Amino acid sequence: YRAHVAAVTVAAGAAPGVLVSFEDLTEREQAAQMRRDFVANVSHELRTPLTSLMGFIETLQGPARRDEAAMDRFLGIMAREAARMERLVHDLLSLSRVEGEERVRPREPVDLAAVMGTVVTMLRPLARERGCGLRFEPGGACLVPGNADQLQQVFTNLVENAVKYGGDDNSVEITLAPHPDDATLRMPAIAVTVRDRGPGIDPLHIPRLTERFYRVDTHRSREMGGTGLGLAIVKHIVNRHRGRLRIASEPGQGSTFSVILPRWDG
Ligand code: ADP
Repeated sequence: YRAHVAAVTVAAGAAPGVLVSFEDLTEREQAAQMRRDFVANVSHELRTPLTSLMGFIETLQGPARRDEAAMDRFLGIMAREAARMERLVHDLLSLSRVEGEERVRPREPVDLAAVMGTVVTMLRPLARERGCGLRFEPGGACLVPGNADQLQQVFTNLVENAVKYGGDDNSVEITLAPHPDDATLRMPAIAVTVRDRGPGIDPLHIPRLTERFYRVDTHRSREMGGTGLGLAIVKHIVNRHRGRLRIASEPGQGSTFSVILPRWDG
């Protein structure tokens, strides 16, 4: 707490008094600390590929100048590092946009089956490349009030993670189903579930997965092209839609990410 002390006169002629007020600093300080951590994280995440890019540029200007094979290899690495920086900037912009819009509820009717169909079509090549089965059987239309682009981003992040972190012999199963009147949501809802058969996530990590830059295995995430922002973006978009994100995992058995969204009542 911070104390403020001021001399006050209540009424003309009355004896002067002292006003002491207390200000709760904890919330403000926490927010300031979070901002500082975020800036430090962003700087670190950008500096790593940048340092590597500068190192390769120097090598290409010097010893590797006439070595064509080395040049090809280094340019390949440089392109990967630049792509990583681009992904990071892209995710940072998405996150800042959805955070800014959080109080405004999107109200267009969105057919979740159609959105998920698009996501599955787009991610099928990645799944195939990794030998991962991808199963989605759309039922009828599942309408929710929302923003189609943002919901597409949510499903893309979840399905991509399920494919990326699912390891060998993985298969991903996606379902859309009416959710019984949910105790927390208190209205008819639809559950979108993405289940993988990967190594799963230790329960210790689950509450922190939606923090910006939180990763269970930083090296693996980087190798997979992750920015550590995917689930933070998911959480903000789901909040904006008055929905809930549920994460369940059994180490060794796989993980299940569910998004529960209020149904369109229009
Ligand atoms: P990233 O860009 O690293 O993928 P995310 O925010 O999307 O960041 O995910 C945070 C972390 O959660 C990942 O680094 C990974 O360790 C873990 N994770 C996410 N989805 C899964 C999954 N389906 N199976 C196992 N681990 C997962």
